[in-house]
Amino acid sequence: MTSTYITTTIPYVNARPHLGFALELVQADVLARHHRSIGEQVRFQAGTDDNSLKNVLAAEAAGVGVQEFVDASAAAFTGLAEPLSLSVDDLIRTSSDPRHRAGVERLWRACADSGDLYRRHYEGLYCVGCEQFYTTAELDDGRCREHGTVPDLVSEENWFFRLSRYAGQLRDLIQAGTIRIEPAERRNEVLALIDGGLADFSVSRSTERARGWGIPVPGDPGQVIYVWWDALGNYLTALDYADGGENLSRWWTGASRRIHLLGKGVLRFHAVYWPAMLLSAGEAVPTDIVVHGYLTENGRKISKSSGATVDPYDLAGKYGTDAVRWWLLREVPRGADADFTVDRLVSRANDELANGFGNLVNRVVTMIHRYRDGHVPAAAASAAEAAVLNEVIRNGPGLITGALDDFDFRRATEAVWRIADEANRYVNSTRPWNLHKTGDRAELDAVLSMLLLACQAIGAYLTPFLPDAAARVIRQCTPDEAGLLPSPAPLLPRIALDLSGPGDS
Ligand SMILES: [Zn+2]
Repeated sequence: MTSTYITTTIPYVNARPHLGFALELVQADVLARHHRSIGEQVRFQAGTDDNSLKNVLAAEAAGVGVQEFVDASAAAFTGLAEPLSLSVDDLIRTSSDPRHRAGVERLWRACADSGDLYRRHYEGLYCVGCEQFYTTAELDDGRCREHGTVPDLVSEENWFFRLSRYAGQLRDLIQAGTIRIEPAERRNEVLALIDGGLADFSVSRSTERARGWGIPVPGDPGQVIYVWWDALGNYLTALDYADGGENLSRWWTGASRRIHLLGKGVLRFHAVYWPAMLLSAGEAVPTDIVVHGYLTENGRKISKSSGATVDPYDLAGKYGTDAVRWWLLREVPRGADADFTVDRLVSRANDELANGFGNLVNRVVTMIHRYRDGHVPAAAASAAEAAVLNEVIRNGPGLITGALDDFDFRRATEAVWRIADEANRYVNSTRPWNLHKTGDRAELDAVLSMLLLACQAIGAYLTPFLPDAAARVIRQCTPDEAGLLPSPAPLLPRIALDLSGPGDS
């Protein structure tokens, strides 16, 4: 049986989650649901990165203890599973999950055993926002490109990881597609980074500078493990890496796909540092690194640190889970940035969910009730007019699978949308109400049965994208034992722009 492991990054919990992270969660959820639906075993893994210095600083600013702060903040992230209807199998929290610390320690020892960890004095410019050292060449006018802040000059003795040793091997794996990086421009970016030379990187901090927060270096309590090393380790530690049990062999070593989803800002960590750490530890490397862009709101980057924020709880509360997921899947181009506005979310939902899918299903079920007392007509041979619609339905699964293999969520949803589009054209050309009037019973049955088939296909194909709406469509289009359809009820009502503030909903 094919097994597929799908992960999201684990966010810092220094502020509330924003819509950009919801994008990553929803994309991962669609992949997880899709792979399950084609008969694969899937594990969808998410979590929170609690061990960052950023969290410590945020806790200090809030005047509460660090553990108390991260517990409360992490709940806002793990709680997204409900408003976004996520089918997450497992959540790991790096500060409190007993699997994590033991696993990170094992990963450290495995790399140490390979001779890839050594101590040396280091001086560098550190951005706490990124939790990363930068060279002056990587800064704009001395400022971090992500945060616009001036990094701190740090001078101390640290542990280093021998990244330089893995440059050739990484290059080969990426070029051969063993590690597939999508989209291609991100792959080229990584190859250019490798060609530019990979310097060993610092993988520990003094415990003092880390404010005592984090996982101590095994055998060196004066140092804590670099938060990125710790965080990247979650992809293994959540699989009981510490004891190398069944989960590890099933979902990592023996998995047919190990898919990481991430934003473009953390590409270097996932496509360079992480595979090198795995090679050093003697573990398999990821098969797919899938990179999404950033969301902006009216042109400003949505991020926890920029101040611009769109709260996914607030959006789902006001407009519903289906509308939020649909916007994320329909409007964000593959691997690229997108600008969010509430107006576009509302008009997408009204045009395609309410007026498109909802209206079509309602119309079809209403006609079956009006003309056939709710009894599903026996499937008759379809007329020539049904040929196009039939073909669109038949091609749906192949197109969806192809698009999702390319991580193209817009193209995948387009394949579902085409069925509604074609079904509406079919209604207008066959005019069932005329067939009813003229008493052409056989033809009316054929048309109604074709239309119901289209609605059932929409329900089935929508499932990975809009699990809630799809379940309602399927219920509405499934006859009972006596062959009777449920009475037509509004499935996807129109929504209105809500200008009240957050929390008023
Ligand atoms: Zn930064």
